[in-house]
Amino acid sequence: IKIKITEIDCPVSVSSAFEGERVRKDTMFAEFGGNRTPAWELVTSIDLADVEDHKITLIGPDIDDAMFEEGKTVRLPLGVLVEVAGKDMQADFETVLERRIHYFLNYVEGAMHVGQRNSSWIRLTKEAYGKGFRLKHIGEVLYAKMRDDFDKVVDKCQVTIYTNKEDVERLYAERAKPVYDKRDTRMAALTDDNVEEFYTCLLCQSFAPSHVCIVTPERLGLCGAVSWLDAKATKQLDPTGPNQPVVKGTAIDERLGIWDSVNEAVATNSQGAVESVTLYSILEDPMTSCGCFECICGIMPEANGVVIVNREHADITPVGMTFGELASMTGGGVQTPGFMGHGRQLLGSKKFMSAEGGLERIVWMPKALKDDVAERMNKAVKEMTGIDNFADMVCDETIAVDSEAVLEFLETKGHPALAMDPIM
Ligand code: SF4
Ligand code: ZN
Repeated sequence: IKIKITEIDCPVSVSSAFEGERVRKDTMFAEFGGNRTPAWELVTSIDLADVEDHKITLIGPDIDDAMFEEGKTVRLPLGVLVEVAGKDMQADFETVLERRIHYFLNYVEGAMHVGQRNSSWIRLTKEAYGKGFRLKHIGEVLYAKMRDDFDKVVDKCQVTIYTNKEDVERLYAERAKPVYDKRDTRMAALTDDNVEEFYTCLLCQSFAPSHVCIVTPERLGLCGAVSWLDAKATKQLDPTGPNQPVVKGTAIDERLGIWDSVNEAVATNSQGAVESVTLYSILEDPMTSCGCFECICGIMPEANGVVIVNREHADITPVGMTFGELASMTGGGVQTPGFMGHGRQLLGSKKFMSAEGGLERIVWMPKALKDDVAERMNKAVKEMTGIDNFADMVCDETIAVDSEAVLEFLETKGHPALAMDPIM
């Protein structure tokens, strides 16, 4: 018997009306993740017998226990483990449910959620705290929404929230990371050429009405949270939902990545606002960006290459702008040739702006991002060009940020971009 959970045990409103709400520093009570504390979220399916439906557990201090100093923001590590079970549940559905955490928590009045996996970032307002919102309510909201929205596959759901640093780190290594890695390995075997269809993603139209992501095996959604497999699973779970197949057909231009079918899907779903996109170019009709891109890529003409900056990096980049400044010109569902929002995963993809020369064009990125993607990026560059340890040629903020100094570094390293055709 399926029960609809309409009543959510939560002292603040939970509605899509609060989706776009931002929580700024002055109204913030508590913060998790966002590079300040370790944080992750995981949806995993286990045996029916191992799940106690509606069990919400908090292990570690709550936000009021952690209030060390009156008026000072509470910062805690956070691990959100959602365990689900159901006779029709499949492992491929886990990521779809996991991505919805982002939406479900943004529905909470006074809560903001950004990111996913181990880059999740949550803020809660003083007002929500004042109304009695505590960490167990995160569990209540996720429980109710998972049961409601995915009643076809979720028969039971339990949520455990960890806030002790040791638990958060240990369970990341034991539970979360192995699952993330397994998903990535599965995805790595698929290429744009060996599938028959791509998928649209329209989930972000609530923020950016003309934005359409085209999700392909080698180019995941720019939020980093919707892979081709996720889109495919969503279509199975929700046949009229946000991910619809785009049967590829023959490419009009293989190099730029232009398909009639893709253009048609983008034009229809953007209500005519965008009529043509390329999948592999940053200069010619690049894909639009909503606002939740993990990274922004922008051309640095004097280096004949591109600079990448991730959301977590607050400082200026060699193109003279910060992530925030770049985001304000890249987002909103408009096409901005020369700038593009994208997921971290794309930095290991052979299709990354392949029309302009690909990964080899990357001349600068923050060190933390470089360390995170180096292994996959190096492997892809090696396979395409024979260059070993490419990451070592890419400048970062610990080496230089000033344009001239960046150029000097690239010359010392013999960076391949310097010898490539002019980028523009
Ligand atoms: Fe979907 Fe793109 Fe939004 Fe990610 S950024 S949820 S792929 S529309
Ligand atoms: Zn988005």
